[in-house]
Amino acid sequence: MRAIISDIHGNLDALESVLADIEQRGISEIYCLGDIVGYGPNPRECVDLVKAKCAKVILGNHDQGALFDPEGFNAGAERAIFWTRSILETGAGSEERWEFLGELPRIIKEPNRLFVHGSARNPLNEYVFPEDIYNQRKMERIFSLVEKHCFQGHTHIPGVFTEDMNFLPPEEVDFEYDLGDQKCLVNVGSVGQPRNGVPDSSYVILDGEHVTFRRVPYDVDGTANKIYAIPDLDNFLGDRLRDGR
Ligand code: ZN
Repeated sequence: MRAIISDIHGNLDALESVLADIEQRGISEIYCLGDIVGYGPNPRECVDLVKAKCAKVILGNHDQGALFDPEGFNAGAERAIFWTRSILETGAGSEERWEFLGELPRIIKEPNRLFVHGSARNPLNEYVFPEDIYNQRKMERIFSLVEKHCFQGHTHIPGVFTEDMNFLPPEEVDFEYDLGDQKCLVNVGSVGQPRNGVPDSSYVILDGEHVTFRRVPYDVDGTANKIYAIPDLDNFLGDRLRDGR
């Protein structure tokens, strides 16, 4: 049994709540699909916790943006990345954090399982949104690169994409999904900045072939207030946490 988390985005309160939920279920193996930092107020603490708790970790586009030159981000996100970088570059332990982020892989391959941040085609940057089921070319191309089941994040919208072009949000499958012979892409949602209209953190438990979508409440107001107190982080980054958008 393992837990798969993604898109923490420097949200320590959310990460701690999710890790407590995982621990309560007796799960010791955790995979993280990237974007540990960016947007949120606690990048250092989140990198340290992920480094300590996760067996496997993938590089996300925001982690990459903090490490190198941010490309393709809007003005608010870019400002948050530069602030994140300044925090990661300073303070005790900064070298270890930098080294850890700099060595993360972009993809993890196991028999029948692929783990990426964005998509199998472009592991770091490509979004696969629910509405992409109407983009047959895109989905066929991505599915052709997936042996069986692919776990991904990046959109912050949890759910399952099936090869017959359906998107199943967790609510539609009662938060349970059995991986079968058909290929599928499982988006695990976001720990630190959900965008599916629900403020609770999202992650996935993988038990054999059985996927469970979890929702975990955390101190949203406390995190929003931390963001409001940092001038380089747009207030919108706090507001959006309340609405899960
Ligand atoms: Zn993200």
